[in-house]
Amino acid sequence: MQDLLDLDLARAQMLGTLKPLPWLEATPGAAAGCHLAENVHAVHAVPPFANSAMDGYAVCSEDLELRRGDPLRIAQSIFAGSAPGAPIASGHCARIFTGAPLPQGADAVIAQEDATVLDDGRVSFDGHPAAGAYVRHAGADVREGQQLAAAGTVLNATRVALLTAAGVERVRIHRAPRVAIIVTGDELRAPGQALEPGAIHDSNRPMLEALARRVGADVVHSEQVGDDPERLRATLRAGADAGDAVVCSGGVSVGDADHVRALLAEEGEVTFWRLALKPGKPFAFGSLHGRPFFGLPGNPVSTLVTFMLLVKPALLRLAGAGNLEITSLTATLAQDVRKRPGRRDFQRGHFEMTEEGTLRVRAFERQDSNLLGVLAAANCLIDLPQDSGDLAAGSRVRIIPLEGTV
Ligand code: AMP
Ligand code: MG
Repeated sequence: MQDLLDLDLARAQMLGTLKPLPWLEATPGAAAGCHLAENVHAVHAVPPFANSAMDGYAVCSEDLELRRGDPLRIAQSIFAGSAPGAPIASGHCARIFTGAPLPQGADAVIAQEDATVLDDGRVSFDGHPAAGAYVRHAGADVREGQQLAAAGTVLNATRVALLTAAGVERVRIHRAPRVAIIVTGDELRAPGQALEPGAIHDSNRPMLEALARRVGADVVHSEQVGDDPERLRATLRAGADAGDAVVCSGGVSVGDADHVRALLAEEGEVTFWRLALKPGKPFAFGSLHGRPFFGLPGNPVSTLVTFMLLVKPALLRLAGAGNLEITSLTATLAQDVRKRPGRRDFQRGHFEMTEEGTLRVRAFERQDSNLLGVLAAANCLIDLPQDSGDLAAGSRVRIIPLEGTV
């Protein structure tokens, strides 16, 4: 068992060999999904000018107070997109609409629901507004020069909007990783292909493509190859030519048809192989023609688990992500769970919120690493510590939610 590497050590070692890809410039909109290569600051304030938060009337609150609620004359109408208009004179107000600039002299807006237009065209108001009522002050959302997002942050939809609103035209972002996906196995048939006895449909290739895209990577090469070592060698070379990283499933264990690790050693370098992990023990990481190479075991659950725990953080590191932590939560086991000490076990589970607001998780009865049906029904992986044996119902465990990430 000593030759099995601890998962956290393996991940740290792997991440230590990886650097973010070079940066490039793009508009915030075009850079959506990418990670910032620099801290970004507001070019101008948001909002850039004081404006109305309501459809109504812009008034000078002090003037209205002095007039003890006398009706005001409507001097002008100001729409969103209009220039601010003339200053408000005493005894006057401006018809104003949401987003329209406040005219000089006005310091409050009265909602049109609280206003009555009289027959003579003047307008009277219910009550007195406080200074600043329904006014969005310049810079109240964002100050000029304020930091909007830090290097390493992902440009999600809300940050794209924030940067754009604050006048940021171009940002430096890390290029999205280009990933080559290779699946190996004589038994594999492409989707739609008929299955002769002994053949199965290749489910890892579409799964890995989807997972890679979820992480924001571009899948630039995707190929299925049999267990012939020379064909596999040529495919691995083509993958390393095409991608910033190569993700390969199958053929990485110790069977007679498993050639991936030996080829990696010949064509590049094996950094580590075999983890104290279940499922996913025969995972290999190394460098193939200068590209990071991930050899994932072919059983679909092992493929998914090793992708989530190792490939995903690695791709995020290439993408320039600042935070590579895998999101996990604490939950209580709903039933006894069987576990043998020696390997860290990521069991498939289903968690839910209890009425008390805590999380309760149930491990699936069947935990074999080939069971795609169980995998697809699971909404989390239950992270059971390496040295732990059986766990009793009520034990506190960490879970990794899968919803929204796979
Ligand atoms: P291997 O890692 O090549 O020893 O494969 C382990 C198990 O996973 C075998 O039962 C394979 O048939 C299965 N397997 C390997 N690759 C795939 C794939 N691409 N799609 C579905 N199952 C696979
Ligand atoms: Mg195989």
